[in-house]
Amino acid sequence: MGAVRFPNIIQALVLYETIVFDSILLGSHFDVELALDLLMDAQHGRCFYCRRALTAATTHVDHFLPCARYPVDFGHNFVLANNRCNSQKRDRLPAYKHLAAWVERNAANGDQIADALKEFGIAADLAVSNRVTQWAYAQTEVAGGLTWLSGDKMVPLTEDWRSLFGS
Ligand SMILES: [Zn+2]
Repeated sequence: MGAVRFPNIIQALVLYETIVFDSILLGSHFDVELALDLLMDAQHGRCFYCRRALTAATTHVDHFLPCARYPVDFGHNFVLANNRCNSQKRDRLPAYKHLAAWVERNAANGDQIADALKEFGIAADLAVSNRVTQWAYAQTEVAGGLTWLSGDKMVPLTEDWRSLFGS
C-alpha cells in the first residue's frame, strides 16, 4: 500500500516546491527590476562615475564602497556603472567628486531606494550607510590613501569630504 502512495506524496511535494520556488523567483525578479529601475532613474540613465549613457548590455551593479575592502552589504551602497568604470574602479575607494554625487543621490532618492531594496530583503538604512562610508573615508584620510577618479587616475583625498555629511 505504501509503495503505491509514496510516489504520489513525492509528486505532490515536487509540485508544491515547484510552485513555491517559481513564485519566489518571480517575486524576486520583479523586486530586482524595481530596484534597478529606481537606481537607473536616480542616475538619469547614466553611469554613476563617468555619466555616459547606460545600456542594458553594459550596466553593472557596482558597490560604491568596494565590498572586497568593506564587506558590509547595505542597500545604499549600490550604484549602476558601465562595464568600463566598473572594471577600472575595482576595489578602490571613489574620489571626492563621486562621494559628493553619492551623498546627493541618497538625499534625493535614498528613501525610495531603501523601500525597494527592503522588499528584496536587502537591509537599507541610510544612517548606517553614512556611518560606514564616513568610517571608510576617515580610514583612507588617516592613511594618506589615494581615491579612484577615472580610468587609472588616482587622486589624494584632500577635499573637505566631512562637510558633505554636515560635520
Ligand atoms: Zn562610467
